[in-house]
Amino acid sequence: MSIKTFKGGVHPNYMKQLTNKSPIQVLEAGAEVVIPLLQHIGKICEPLVKKGDYVRVGQKIGDVDAFVSSPVHASVSGTVKAIEPRLSNGGVNVNSIIIENDFTYTPVEDSGLMGDYERMTKEEIIEVIHSAGIVGMGGAGFPMHIKVNPPKDKIIKYIILNGAECEPYLSSDHRTMLEHTEEMLFGINVLMTLSNARRTFIAVEDNKPDVIDKLLKMKLPYSIEVVPLETKYPQGSEKHLIKAVTGLEVPHGKLPADVGVIVNNVDTCISLYNALIKGMPLVRRRVTVSGGAVANPGVYDVPIGMTFRELFEAAGGFKSEPAKIIMGGPMMGAAQVSLDVPVVKTTSGILAFTKKEGRTYGESPCLRCGKCVDVCPMHLMPNAIATATRLNDNDKAEKLHAMDCVECGSCSYTCPSHRYLVERIRLAKSRLQIIAAKRK
Ligand code: SF4
Ligand code: SF4
Repeated sequence: MSIKTFKGGVHPNYMKQLTNKSPIQVLEAGAEVVIPLLQHIGKICEPLVKKGDYVRVGQKIGDVDAFVSSPVHASVSGTVKAIEPRLSNGGVNVNSIIIENDFTYTPVEDSGLMGDYERMTKEEIIEVIHSAGIVGMGGAGFPMHIKVNPPKDKIIKYIILNGAECEPYLSSDHRTMLEHTEEMLFGINVLMTLSNARRTFIAVEDNKPDVIDKLLKMKLPYSIEVVPLETKYPQGSEKHLIKAVTGLEVPHGKLPADVGVIVNNVDTCISLYNALIKGMPLVRRRVTVSGGAVANPGVYDVPIGMTFRELFEAAGGFKSEPAKIIMGGPMMGAAQVSLDVPVVKTTSGILAFTKKEGRTYGESPCLRCGKCVDVCPMHLMPNAIATATRLNDNDKAEKLHAMDCVECGSCSYTCPSHRYLVERIRLAKSRLQIIAAKRK
């Protein structure tokens, strides 16, 4: 079986061994959960409950009438204690619903989500996905009901299940593919029915041989193919995954659906099973808790709204003082300013780094070695874009295609002079976005 990949990329120290062998542990919430009303790309939800209301697990507690939006639900049963701004993983306050847990975990009586997808219309399945608050759980939280419902002229030929999990330290997709294989395959079948796709590719990096073996032994139908990928960062980036698996290139400014592909995350697929079979919306997710400062790294199945502090405590606390806390992976994740922020739909992992793991370096002059150019998976010139940004030359940054940068951080990772490449390119992108908005 051939191993597929893309051109460029880097091989960081993966550190998966800290978590990839331990079975998923299920945790329940503490005395309260904090449910932010914004956990997706799009418009923030309005609360549907008020202080003092009793809510059940799976009850819709926030929603908004906007095209790009996704409702939020209670992850425990109990009483709404407050609706107020609380610190979120983005470092800003977000209006949130705080629920006092009554520890009975009483489920909502009828969520209206359960159904036989083979007998449902396309519109009915999409409505379930919307009502269940399912969003892309591997990245930015793009609402899934929009992703799986492209314009009518876009014919979807392939589904790709993104099991690459190329970020170092993270193992939640790995353990989920291994321990919840049937639910994942159920989700794939729903997506194939919905989109009329001819084939699904389950794309898995070859550092997960147990997952690849298990799937191959299952003798899947011809329409579902297991595709081993070279272990290389950023293999899970949508455009690179599509190129590696199908050979198709998503042009600049276009979406995967424009080349007939929909890419989905593992946990997102399992959310379809939970909605259609259990009648439960997206109220829990699997989170990798790792890093050198954590006593017992592992993968945990947790309710949304549990705080990072509670999660680290469940993982045995810290064995040394953490120097840096990150939500997500170390390459693209976001550094956190507090442990008192809640797990949301897009929290794939939380990492606590020791001083050594989290060390930062001062910049040195560029050596013109070209290593950043060699590794850039988008074939950009990161050094030149960063220099243009530093000189406030937005025109040049635009001409160098700064907007094509996927912010993978491979250039910064590989730079021997520790130049702040991705940081400057991000700045260039936001400047160019502002300029484009002003032009409009
Ligand atoms: S320029 Fe952007 S896409 Fe290229 S390596 Fe750097 S961060 Fe990744
Ligand atoms: S990798 Fe660093 S030192 Fe080498 S050319 Fe790029 S910016 Fe310069």
